[in-house]
Amino acid sequence: MESTFAKSVDQLQKLKLLTEKDLRLIEEVDEVCADLSLAEFEAYVERRFNDSAPKMLSERGLMGLPIEEKYGGKGVGMLVHSLIMERLGQLGMGIVTLVDVHQFLGSLTVQQWGSQEQKSRILPKAATGEAILAYALTEPEAGSDPSSMVTSFSEARDGYVLNGSKYLISNGSISRYVIVFAKSSLDGSVTAFIVDSRTKGFTVAMHLSEKLGLFTSDTALLEFEDMAVPKDAVLGKLGKGFSVAYSALLNGRIGIGSGCLGVMEDCLNSSVERARNRVQHGKVIGKHQLIQKHIAKIACNLESSRWPVYSAAMLKEELDSRSQNIELRNEVDRLSATAKLIASSNAFDSADRAVQIHGGFGYSLLSPVARHLLDSRVARIYEGTDEIMELKIASTILGKEFEVYR
Ligand SMILES: Cc1cc2nc3c(=O)[nH]c(=O)nc-3n(C[C@H](O)[C@H](O)[C@H](O)COP(=O)(O)OP(=O)(O)OC[C@H]3O[C@@H](n4cnc5c(N)ncnc54)[C@H](O)[C@@H]3O)c2cc1C
Repeated sequence: MESTFAKSVDQLQKLKLLTEKDLRLIEEVDEVCADLSLAEFEAYVERRFNDSAPKMLSERGLMGLPIEEKYGGKGVGMLVHSLIMERLGQLGMGIVTLVDVHQFLGSLTVQQWGSQEQKSRILPKAATGEAILAYALTEPEAGSDPSSMVTSFSEARDGYVLNGSKYLISNGSISRYVIVFAKSSLDGSVTAFIVDSRTKGFTVAMHLSEKLGLFTSDTALLEFEDMAVPKDAVLGKLGKGFSVAYSALLNGRIGIGSGCLGVMEDCLNSSVERARNRVQHGKVIGKHQLIQKHIAKIACNLESSRWPVYSAAMLKEELDSRSQNIELRNEVDRLSATAKLIASSNAFDSADRAVQIHGGFGYSLLSPVARHLLDSRVARIYEGTDEIMELKIASTILGKEFEVYR
């Protein structure tokens, strides 16, 4: 069976939405994924971070996909990037999380908000993979409501001093640069800082390895104790940290939605393979109609998620060339939330059905699908929970006066 991914790339090419160069890049990613597949499987079973992922992606120049060519990246637009995340998603959400945080929440945010000096210093290293990026918004007592954060900064003679902690930070212990959000101890306004993890006072307090899944992704608790950063560590404008935080999440949610498409593709392919070969009651299980129902549902989940993800990616690409357009920005906000909400919930349902088709073997981490069930669950939580996505979608339709929280 030709993969539905290959078919959709083909359709997008017929619509002239992809160039020959884009296609070559997608083929290259396909090759890397084939090479990475075994290492990802082994790391998952051993429940450890897959350090060959950043290494192999770096070797092929794939750590800087959205970074402009003048900084050493590939300069790809959001639709091509989304397709690449979809291909990576077939390996699982562990790799998707690594790349989403490094590229969508990290590099793109520095590219959009950074000063010339910050971009020249950080982006070339991010593009080669020499420096991995992380994004630190969540705290033990501030998740869906980041305005309740307690990490603070105060002015010092040559810059600022940060104190506090950040919880559940992906790439937290492997990153060189972390975008940290902190509240002014003077007026409570929030500012984004780009912090070098080698700074005195920056500690990886804990590796959070007791997760339900997502074993191949690094997750950490970070602590900052009297961490002095220079004035030029401010990312964007002082007091405008939430603009930085929310613009990063617009990109990140498209990346996560795209990864979820790949999860569904892998669930479909593995289930078809199993249904064609596993014999019970004298025939292959694919000939039992109730198994066919699961396969049909996974295929429908996948196809009904593709348009929301691709349309969010295409509109984001348009926004990137007309960044001052507020109406367009709100529309991208709604579509990226819609894409993530639909794709993550469909990925979880698909993984559940794929495990069912695989029977008892499906419940083993040695099967190709168990990890998707464990890992896709987090996509309904991080970068905005299902509920927060629903509130956002509703209020962008009803109007600002219907926002239920600020
Ligand atoms: C593996 C993993 C990796 C992560 N990586 C990162 C990262 O790299 N960087 C980062 O900053 N964060 C990261 N996070 C944190 C993640 O973004 C938060 O967990 C998420 O935003 C939810 O916050 P919370 O866990 O505090 O849940 P809470 O905010 O406490 O929410 C609990 C429940 O209440 C609901 N709820 C909250 N407010 C409302 C409301 N107004 N109306 C209706 N329901 C509501 C929520 O939807 C949820 O169901 C990660 C999380 C995980 C699990």
